[in-house]
Amino acid sequence: MKKILQDLSFAEIEALILSFGEKKFRAKQLYEGILQGKAITAISSLPNALKERLLEEYEDAPVTIRETFYSADGTEKYLFAFADGNLVEGVLMKYKYGYTQCVSTQVGCRMGCKFCASTLNGLVRDLTSGEILSQILLVNALHKAETQGKGAEARAVTNVVLMGSGEPLDNYDNTLRFLRSVCDERGFGMSARNISLSTCGLVPKMYRLADEGIPLNLTVSLHATDDVSRARTMPVAKAYKIEDILKACEYYFQKTGRRYYFEYTLIEGENCDEAHADALIRLLKGKPCHVNLIRLNEVKERELKALGDKEAYRFLGRLEKGGLSATLRRQIGVDIGGACGQLRNSYL
Ligand code: SAH
Repeated sequence: MKKILQDLSFAEIEALILSFGEKKFRAKQLYEGILQGKAITAISSLPNALKERLLEEYEDAPVTIRETFYSADGTEKYLFAFADGNLVEGVLMKYKYGYTQCVSTQVGCRMGCKFCASTLNGLVRDLTSGEILSQILLVNALHKAETQGKGAEARAVTNVVLMGSGEPLDNYDNTLRFLRSVCDERGFGMSARNISLSTCGLVPKMYRLADEGIPLNLTVSLHATDDVSRARTMPVAKAYKIEDILKACEYYFQKTGRRYYFEYTLIEGENCDEAHADALIRLLKGKPCHVNLIRLNEVKERELKALGDKEAYRFLGRLEKGGLSATLRRQIGVDIGGACGQLRNSYL
């Protein structure tokens, strides 16, 4: 595979352009083209000789959208293809306050969670920062017309969640580089406060992230209230205890002043009767956190069943009565289905 321009910061692009003996302003033109989601060959401001020089070493279009699915509720689902033919999924959710894009950080995943389709075939490879960023640049370009704000502030994609395939903290360096790059004021300029990073709870990396000084929303996939049950659906629970995850969250709060989030997917007969609600309340009450209850997307390769709607609301009510801040995540885009890695699997 050739190199990827989207992996580079503006300063690195500038150094590259100067090393070619080109004028500095070419770096700006190139970087602008990249931010507009363009392939090198499509950046019309650049002279052909420079494009050819770049194409000797760099991918013309390291990420492309292979297919798009449109939901009646406006949600869009994408199948992204990389230069080596690998595929990942992404979703764009349209809310009143802006567009939230769900991006992938790895092709596949090695965490092995029992409810998740992305991990069925294990980890294929890490994505580079530029491959993560490109997912956003492409989708943002598609929706240019709906852009909010003006000039350098103009962005259609206003929020990003790292909740596609992969475990972001298992691909730490690329994910960090991506975060710095998407937040770079000279670049895409997204606010870290509009980014949510979801992790299955890799404790040492959570501490490291807290020390980076990036005020993003940290979200931990909890899905259970004790370590033994958690290990039934999440093998990572054998490596890290809930108690230690909570300490790492507390450290995150101290360092960043940001409250943290927990995802709790409701799996029938597994984690959502009254005793579980009460255990969750005991675990989290008084902590600066919010619980997002998620309906299980049933994966056909797995046996697990989703909890009914009425029961889900009852579980939510019990948490709220117990003093937790919690919401039941609205289900959108169900008609384009195949959440959580199921689309890619159907292609494989
Ligand atoms: N590796 C990260 C991101 C995973 S995807 C993590 O573990 O947090 C984001 C969320 O979707 C996680 O909470 C994950 O546990 C959850 N999830 C995965 N498969 C799901 C499914 N089939 N139904 C509902 N939620 C699922």
